[in-house]
Amino acid sequence: MMQVRCQRCGWVFTMSRDSIGLAVAEAGQNEHYLADCPKCRHGIKIRVDDLRRRLPADYVLPVPPPKPAPIHVKKEEVKNEEVRNGAEAGSGDRDQAQARAEDTGQDEAGSNLPAERG
Ligand SMILES: [Zn+2]
Repeated sequence: MMQVRCQRCGWVFTMSRDSIGLAVAEAGQNEHYLADCPKCRHGIKIRVDDLRRRLPADYVLPVPPPKPAPIHVKKEEVKNEEVRNGAEAGSGDRDQAQARAEDTGQDEAGSNLPAERG
């Protein structure tokens, strides 16, 4: 347990052992941990050394929550590439299909060629 006083509003709050441990884990290699005052949200600088001293020697630091990984859209790009290559290779067939569609009197705007549907 550790009592922390906010320099801005003078509010005193208590950090539990678990929150001290989490603070040390989040601080990592930093010299100070920035705690938020629960009353005015002012950032309070606390020396990590002071936090560490409050923890028992055998205290196991919790693992801070991992940062969200960037989302990759590579799979979709590869898929589109494959479709485009396939259409290029069969461009002759597409012309034939278009001619066939005109023969049967289908509306060109409404004709979806099977080659492009995947
Ligand atoms: Zn405050």
